Amino acid sequence: MAIGQGDFLEDGQVRALCTQCGAEKHEPFDRCEKCALQPVGDDLIKATAASVYRHFDQPSKADNYAYELAAYRDKDLTPLLSTIADDEFDRLRRWLSEATQAPALAANFGQLVRKFLPILLIAAIIGALLAYLKH
Ligand SMILES: [Zn+2]
Repeated sequence: MAIGQGDFLEDGQVRALCTQCGAEKHEPFDRCEKCALQPVGDDLIKATAASVYRHFDQPSKADNYAYELAAYRDKDLTPLLSTIADDEFDRLRRWLSEATQAPALAANFGQLVRKFLPILLIAAIIGALLAYLKH
């Protein structure tokens, strides 16, 4: 189950908030347009907790959370973040490291295939020609 680009965009819903200034963002990993915070490391875990991805595996909870987040728009997120338990942050940390590694692997594999495909095609054509000439 993945949260899509177009999910949780109803009126009164917010997908993600900047953990530093509370500005609304589309994705937790986006750079904040207001205060320029680019969340990485622990900031990214916090930013994920302050986004619909907190409930990445439960779409109905994510839907409710999008309304909850709207109440914190442009506000200090400390009260919100302080309600999130350490083990939930750990769960998000694990999910983030999986989510950021798997697509990278897939992209690398795709690049490898694109790089070597012409060579493979040429080798196949030469092989076919040689087989034909031997007859
Ligand atoms: Zn900000």
